[in-house]
Amino acid sequence: MLTKRLKADVKGKEIAAEILKKGGIVAIPTETVYGLAASAYDENAVKKVFIAKGRPQDNPLIVHIADIADLKTVARDIPESAYVAAQKFWPGPLTMIFKRTDKIPASVSAGLDTVAIRMPSDKTAREIIKKSLPLAAPSANTSGKPSPTSAQYVIDDLDGKIDAVVMSDDCEVGVESTVITLVTNPPRLLRPGAVTLEQLKEIFPDIVVDKAVLEEPTKGERVASPGMKYKHYAPKTETYLVEGDSERFAEFVNSKQNAAAVCFSEEEDKITVPKLCYGSQGDESTLAHSVFSVLRRADNLGVQAIYVHAPSKSGVGLAVYNRLIRAAAFRVIKL
Ligand code: AMP
Ligand code: MG
Repeated sequence: MLTKRLKADVKGKEIAAEILKKGGIVAIPTETVYGLAASAYDENAVKKVFIAKGRPQDNPLIVHIADIADLKTVARDIPESAYVAAQKFWPGPLTMIFKRTDKIPASVSAGLDTVAIRMPSDKTAREIIKKSLPLAAPSANTSGKPSPTSAQYVIDDLDGKIDAVVMSDDCEVGVESTVITLVTNPPRLLRPGAVTLEQLKEIFPDIVVDKAVLEEPTKGERVASPGMKYKHYAPKTETYLVEGDSERFAEFVNSKQNAAAVCFSEEEDKITVPKLCYGSQGDESTLAHSVFSVLRRADNLGVQAIYVHAPSKSGVGLAVYNRLIRAAAFRVIKL
């Protein structure tokens, strides 16, 4: 299949919407990461998304809408608190899970009776949704690889497997949306993102953090968010997450053979092995913006192991830590 490159202009967005309405699949920019979109009402198109990504059948997709008014078409039993959260965080990187309506085919939700909904803030994404339909869209990467934060990374993974890519700027946030479920009481944080736990507590004071956010699920364990049980975001090179201060981190990586460091900009000068910086320590938004890109680039350094200096777990740092611990297959070294 020839994958069309579409500009993010009026014509490009129209073509993207036409392809989607006809049951095709198109990678679109969002503020979090690029998404691989299909009409959420078209079971056959949704199937193509799973195939192109090599995504496990039991990992549900997020449905993207362009208007709060569309929420009740796709979800039911919506608590008042969801509207409060939507007013505050939509459009933006917050996904909320509800019971699904009959409009949503079972395959979108991987057979669950729930559906995950988000309204993206990226203008191109919203205009394409408005011109087409609600879109089911997971990240536009090959399953298991780091999520794509640029159109080029989408092409690297999916060229020839999807109908088109809308070529836009690099994604602003850089990590996928925060996912919470409102089907349980109390609500649960299933995946941290740019809408932070601290912010969510203002609306959902009793929200709990699902165990899978920071811990490795044990074999056979039933997880609330199916996506959390898979190997994720992983470079091909063996990756380790390292906790400790700058001095110890530098000393540790400098003693390694055939290794590279992913570090903070402040410690760059102390490190003598090949290195990539992903932002300033404590500047969690920049770390989130760069994390998937450094993981992809680290794979091209030709080393045997990648050691990533762990960020703090506060604010957006929790999202970065959550992605890195998976990229490292839960191999954490505490110095
Ligand atoms: P991605 O589409 O790559 O951003 O991944 C979507 C994430 O949301 C995965 O971790 C899914 O497991 C999770 N998710 C989507 N829909 C549901 C749902 N109905 N219930 C629980 N988790 C969900
Ligand atoms: Mg994904």
